[in-house]
Parts: sequence; structure tokens; C-alpha cells
Amino acid sequence: MKPLGPIPAGFETLDGELAIGGKSASALADKAGSTPLFVYSKAMLDRRMADLRAAMPDRLRIHYAVKANPFRPLLEHMAGKVDGFDIASGGELAMILAAGIDPEKVSFAGPGKRDEEIEAAIGVGATLNCESEGEARRTLAIAGRIGKVPRVAIRVNPDFELRGSGMKMGGGAKPFGLDAERVPALARELIAGGADWRGLHIFTGSQALDAEAIIETQANVLKLAAKIAEEVGEVLPKLNMGGGFGIPYFNGDASVDIAAIGTALSARFIDLPDVLSETELCIELGRFLVGEAGVYLTRIVDRKISHGTTYLVTDGGLHHQLAASGNFGTVVRRNYPVAIASKFTAEPEEEASIVGCLCTPLDRLADQGHFPQAEVGDLVAVFCAGAYGASASPANFLGQGPAREILI
Ligand SMILES: *Cc1c(COP(=O)(O)O)cnc(C)c1O
Repeated sequence: MKPLGPIPAGFETLDGELAIGGKSASALADKAGSTPLFVYSKAMLDRRMADLRAAMPDRLRIHYAVKANPFRPLLEHMAGKVDGFDIASGGELAMILAAGIDPEKVSFAGPGKRDEEIEAAIGVGATLNCESEGEARRTLAIAGRIGKVPRVAIRVNPDFELRGSGMKMGGGAKPFGLDAERVPALARELIAGGADWRGLHIFTGSQALDAEAIIETQANVLKLAAKIAEEVGEVLPKLNMGGGFGIPYFNGDASVDIAAIGTALSARFIDLPDVLSETELCIELGRFLVGEAGVYLTRIVDRKISHGTTYLVTDGGLHHQLAASGNFGTVVRRNYPVAIASKFTAEPEEEASIVGCLCTPLDRLADQGHFPQAEVGDLVAVFCAGAYGASASPANFLGQGPAREILI
């Protein structure tokens, strides 16, 4: 028997089934027309935002990192909740525009921006977070050619990282951002070149659960931003302090203590150095805002036993749930929170492994979990599916195609 991850708080039950937005899992599958499907809960998205706002200082703006989940109805819903959006491709910019979101609230980071992407961003007034001197100079040149003033910030590669983060994106040699010591010179060059200077972006890592590590990193980010702003010789207009707030995926993980982070940040905001006194301060979060509000529902199509192991074979799999299968940046595979959604309140009574329908041994949704007895036709729920599920999985593998998605 292997442990399953913790099921996020806030789900409902109805007639013994898992329920979301007052609808049982089987009603949701009927509503969608087929399985597998992703279900995202508006109520849970709203509760998360409200809790976060209550914990953080009023001055702090909250941005949504679109790559976690760009499903259009979800973007439209988030537009009424967050203060800005962070994107990392021209494709995400197109999604933002299609969702009717004001592009002036958008900043565009990410290495390898193509000329067409830069031009599109300048054209709609989005802020470009330049990742290198070369990209900054291309941005000035493209802006000159189309006769627009570009909004530009610089993404900094800091010489520290977010301790304990699942994905490290700062510290040492990195393809992301410009090494901190070279930032002031480039900032002055951009300002002299006529750009609308929008400040700094310092992102140090993802999926951190330890509030102390986040607090320490935020302190370092503020210190570094102040140092750079002093060298540039101007009050910093804006600072994106990064994010990194994680969610509990695995047995033993606990939620981030946002109250502790908010308290520490409020204290720091009281005595900021002069160069940061007028600065617009924001954090950018992806999975923390949307991850726990999503469930992936997949139907059992076969039940079989091999050498004593019971396999529940589903119509979904790693093509929608790459991370839950253990193949998206994990070293040792551990079980996500997974349950039999159609027998959600039943007591566990057997050990079973839940697998997907792909013809590869990598396609595992739960390894040797303890579940109620499930049969063909029952629904399986994979939790924490609101982020990096549909958008970060190889949907076309084996000709399967995308899952349905609904926001309820
Ligand atoms: C991926 C990413 C995020 C979002 O990360 P989460 O772990 O989902 O919060 C935010 N900012 C940048 C620059 C990123 O690359």
C-alpha cells in the first residue's frame, strides 16, 4: 500500500459521490457529454482569492500566471479577481485578448521571444519582461519600426534561489533573466532609448510550501530590487516579486502558511527604502490560485488482476495528467490525491493501482492505493488538477486528443 496525496478542503458530497458546485461527479460527466474531463470550481477559485487578499497587505497586487491554466472561461473569471496577468508566449497573449482581458494589465516574460511576439505585445501595450540584452535591443528596434513606445521591464536572474522550491528558476547560470549585476546598465540603456521603463521582475522558483523560505526570498528580492534601482538612479516604477507559493500534492505536504507570509510582507512594506517607496509591488501565482480548484474525472473502463495486483484501467491518463503520472519534473513518483469519485464516501477496502489508457508503463494515476471496491463505469477523481493538467500534458499522444473542460 502506498499513501495518496491529501484531498484539498472544500469539496462537497452528494448521494455518496464527490460533488462540485452542487453537482455530483456522474452528473458533471453527463453534463460534459463524455469523460475524461476537467472540472474547475468557481467557488473554490473565489475562496482562494479571498483568503489570499485577506492575508496579504493591501498594497500588494496579485497577478495570475496564465501558463498554469489558460482555459478561456477560467481566464474570464480570473479577470474579475486578479490585478494582472503574466504570460510567457504570443499564444498566451492571443488567449488573453480572446478572453477580452485588458492587455495593459499583462506582462510577457519567457526566454526566446520571437520578433512577431514582441511586436504583438508592443502593439497592444503589454509590458515586455526582457530576458537578455539582445531581446531588449530587439524590442527597442521593433518599437522604433512600428512607431510605438514599448513598455519594458527587465527580468533579473538573482544570485539566490527559493529554498525548497520544486522548480528552481534563479541562482547561478540560467536561461531566464539577466544576471543581476548587468541589469542597471541595460535599464539605463532602455530608458535612454525612449522605452517606458516598467521596472523589474525577479522570479526565484515554484512549488514552495515552506513559508519561511518564501519570506526569506521576498526579503532578498526587495533588497536586490532596491540595490538595482539605486544603481539605475531612479525610483523603481514596478517590481514583480515572483511567487512560488506551492500546493500540497503528496502525503505529508501541508498548505503554505499565507498568514505568516502576509504578516512578514506587511512589516517590510512599512519601511521600504526610498527607491521602492512608490513602487507598484506584485506577486505572480499560478498553481496556488487555481490548482486545488480543479479535478480531473476519468471513467473506469476495465478492471483486471495481474499477478495479484488489481488494476483499474481508465479512459484518461498521462496525456491529460502528465504531472500526476510522475513524469513532469519529479524524481521519485508519488501519488497525487486520487479517489473513486462515484464512491467518494465509501470506506476503502482494497488495494488497487489506477492506470490510464495509454500503452506505456509511464501511464499511472495511482500506485497501490487504498480504495473502495470500484467497477467498470465508476469515476476516478484526480485532485490538484486545476494547474498544469490540460495545458501541460501531451494531449495528442497516441491519438487521444484533449479532455473536456468545464468551469462550474
Ligand atoms: C511558471 C511561472 C509562474 C507560475 O508558477 P506556479 O508554480 O504555477 O505559481 C510564475 N512566474 C513565472 C515567471 C513562471 O515561469
